[in-house]
Amino acid sequence: MDREHVKCLIIGSGPAGYTAAIYAGRANLNPVMYEGLTPGGQLTTTTDVENFPGYPDGVDGNQLMDDLRKQASRFDTDIRRGLATAADLSKAPYTLTIDDEKEITCDTLIISTGATAKYLGLEDETKYAGMGVSACATCDGFFYRKKVVAVVGGGDTACEEAIYLAGLASKVYLIVRKPFLRASKIMQSRVMNHEKIEVLFEHNAEGLYGENGVEGVHLVKRLGENDESHYDLAIDGFFLAIGHKPNSDIFKEYIDTDEVGYIITEGQTPRTKVPGVFAAGDVADSHYRQAITAAGSGCKAAIEAEHYLSEMASKK
Ligand code: NDP
Repeated sequence: MDREHVKCLIIGSGPAGYTAAIYAGRANLNPVMYEGLTPGGQLTTTTDVENFPGYPDGVDGNQLMDDLRKQASRFDTDIRRGLATAADLSKAPYTLTIDDEKEITCDTLIISTGATAKYLGLEDETKYAGMGVSACATCDGFFYRKKVVAVVGGGDTACEEAIYLAGLASKVYLIVRKPFLRASKIMQSRVMNHEKIEVLFEHNAEGLYGENGVEGVHLVKRLGENDESHYDLAIDGFFLAIGHKPNSDIFKEYIDTDEVGYIITEGQTPRTKVPGVFAAGDVADSHYRQAITAAGSGCKAAIEAEHYLSEMASKK
């Protein structure tokens, strides 16, 4: 296997990774970044981003990520295609395997691999991607002002998204597969008592329909042990809120994660329990999950990496 050594390796190319690259580049760490399966990350699957500061008229998600990428390149980040497929963080320098074929070692590692929203797995979710299907109410809710939307899920995220959307839309259906909500009591009560939200218990979405975007959802309602009814419900937007999966699998053996897989860092810092290994963005954030918070944590990770390398150099 080829082997190469770098001072600062960044895995993942969302707002956290690119911001880390900008800071690490400007600190002369000569960062190398592997972009992963979705260069640009989750924002490339949305259309307009209207809540990233600095863009008064909003910005296309792909454009924003292109701009961040260019800014990272300007400070000599070596941006490469490739997916980290294995990691050995048992001893420094740390070893990452890229695409199962190339090994690279590093003094500092910034993990910014993000989290992937879970989808139901319906073909129509792909067919209508960006045309009425979304997994982020904060990102896309604005486009559904005075419209009818459905949110799938019965956890805290689904309830939060439903309440957020109810502030914009004319009507929100919450599609819950069980006869109860899993969310915290307070969220349950807010949802159940909201005049614009209607909870459809024991319902599942089977598909979507519409000519040039989502116009409705095919639903199935469980009626009893062996009975169910199928019907269509007119909606303009279909939001998934059935959980996220943080992309932390290859690191779990070495660093702490919570039960879902989010990387646990020390307090408000991006430090993991492995010295020189930092986590930034959604892979370490189950709560805010915003581009701007990810960018902020990427900045912190690069500053930490720079401090760590300076300390290492002063000990030599
Ligand atoms: P959860 O795992 O808590 O809930 C997922 C929901 O989606 C459940 O209702 C689940 O149903 C449903 N679901 C999963 N798969 C499917 C499917 N294939 N079809 C239909 N429904 C499905 O995820 P959340 O993202 O809501 O929350 C993650 C964690 O973050 C939780 O611990 C939550 O409490 C926390 N959180 C806290 C917040 C806060 O405190 N403000 C805000 C948001 C999240 P079922 O119940 O049947 O499994």
